[in-house]
Order: sequence, then structure tokens, then C-alpha cells
Amino acid sequence: MVDAPKFIVDCNVGKLTKWLRLMGYDARFFDGSDDSQLVAVAQAEGRVILSRDTQIMKRRVITSGQLQAILIQSDEPERQIRQVIDTLHLDCRFKPFTLCLECSQPLVERGKGEVKDLVPPYVFQTQSQFMQCPACHRIYWRGTHWRAMTQRLENFTQVV
Ligand SMILES: [Zn+2]
Repeated sequence: MVDAPKFIVDCNVGKLTKWLRLMGYDARFFDGSDDSQLVAVAQAEGRVILSRDTQIMKRRVITSGQLQAILIQSDEPERQIRQVIDTLHLDCRFKPFTLCLECSQPLVERGKGEVKDLVPPYVFQTQSQFMQCPACHRIYWRGTHWRAMTQRLENFTQVV
């Protein structure tokens, strides 16, 4: 899937970062305040800009279509992600459970034995599949938090 869009998420719509990563889309969070830098990173890395900042949308590189940007309309994260999904026709079950929600790194599968001392005993007993982020070393499993997030995502992407 070479064509899957990558994103740079402005800090004014920061919550989109996790939702995109949850679906498996590479999303970089931009916490600076310098619009020029945001645009420069987007261009260098081929990322779609997501922002509520109307000034960014007026830049020539965007109005000319060289760089894609989506002006996010709503304050509500759920409406925001709907807008992105609808605009780009994203698949909300693209590659769930493949990217770290904290740093967007591809997760690596870990055997049960490898995570024994790294997860709570209850999780170790009840889960069989584990993934780890090579960058921050966070361990992921399909626990209740994961299920709650994917369910929310499905719920609000199904509403027509
Ligand atoms: Zn990580």
C-alpha cells in the first residue's frame, strides 16, 4: 500500500493523530507554532496537512495544489476524523494494530515469552498476541482499551 496517505497533524487538531495511527495511517504530530516549518515538513515528507488554521490554507503551495491540506471544520474529534475519512475516502480498518499510537513507528510482533515480565500478569494470562514499538518499547495487546477505541471508531464512521 504505497499510496496510503501520510499525515502531519497540527497541534490545534492533535487528537486526530491517535485515531489515524489506530487505523494504521502514518501520522506525525506537529507541536510547533511556526506554520512555515509545518509546511516544510509536509513537503519534505509528502504528508497531508490537517489543521484548523485558515492562514495555512492560503499559502500558495496549498492553493496551487502542490501540497494537500484539509481545513478541519469541527471542534469535536469525532467529527474531525469523520471529515478526514470522508474527504480522502480512508479505510477505517486499513491496518489496525500496526503502528505505535505514541510515535507512529511500525509495531513488531512479540512472542508471549518475550513480554512475560513487561505486562501485567492478568494480561499475560488472557492475551495471546503482543506487539511492541521498537522506538518507545511500549507493548500493545488487544485489551479493553484497544477494543473501546476501535469500537468508537467503527461507531462514528458508520453513521451516515
Ligand atoms: Zn512508540
